[in-house]
Amino acid sequence: MSAEINAQETAAGIIASGNGYVFTGAGISVPSGIPDFRSPDGIWARADQFMVGTFQGLQLDPIGYHRFWSPLYKKALESGPNTAHRGVRRLEELRLSAGVVTQNIDNLHQVAGSERVLELHGNGMSATCVDCGASIATRELLERENFDCPGCGGVVRHDVVLFNDPLPAQTLNEAFQLAVSSSWVLVIGSSLAVYPAASVPEATLRAGGRLIVVDVEPTPLDPHAVAVLRGDCAELVPQLVQVVQRRLARDH
Ligand code: ZN
Repeated sequence: MSAEINAQETAAGIIASGNGYVFTGAGISVPSGIPDFRSPDGIWARADQFMVGTFQGLQLDPIGYHRFWSPLYKKALESGPNTAHRGVRRLEELRLSAGVVTQNIDNLHQVAGSERVLELHGNGMSATCVDCGASIATRELLERENFDCPGCGGVVRHDVVLFNDPLPAQTLNEAFQLAVSSSWVLVIGSSLAVYPAASVPEATLRAGGRLIVVDVEPTPLDPHAVAVLRGDCAELVPQLVQVVQRRLARDH
């Protein structure tokens, strides 16, 4: 067998045994046309990280901030989830995965039908007025010329974690509980370079769980993985799920 088929079989055997979870980063949404943050031609490569990545930057130039982020949200609303998101959902339907921990803010796991989604960096499909506290759907915000609050004209921010913000404590706690009680984690499209998010799959490894990585690029945790599937997650994840389902059918 080739190394690729070996890795796929190894991963499928572990996933089919159940009691795992999925961890995703920006790479899973790239096949939906949403740009990656950290790739050389990704979002941050052409951004002023202070102006578009912090609350202080948003307050200084709200329109500049919203003009920068609007294409990402428009794209997420238009294109929707891809085959990798649907594969993640399938593992939950099969009760092999207890949920998905994600660094993404694009809501695509929920649109794909995943029921338990732990969002470490929030969800950008809703926003909150900084001045009056009103909640506004991002879909509605995108139609406003100045991206301001329809009620009071105040500055509006998406419900996401920006630089210098703490991560949502309760979600992070739940993610770590899932991490240490799971037998495996399937990491899809995360560079595993952003902390504390990356410490979630690390916690699974430390607790004796096994790591499977699907990514176009190497990650720092690859040497600790039992299987690394290198390539496009929109092809590799549904293939992997198929092999898992074949195993389940064979073993019953
Ligand atoms: Zn307002």
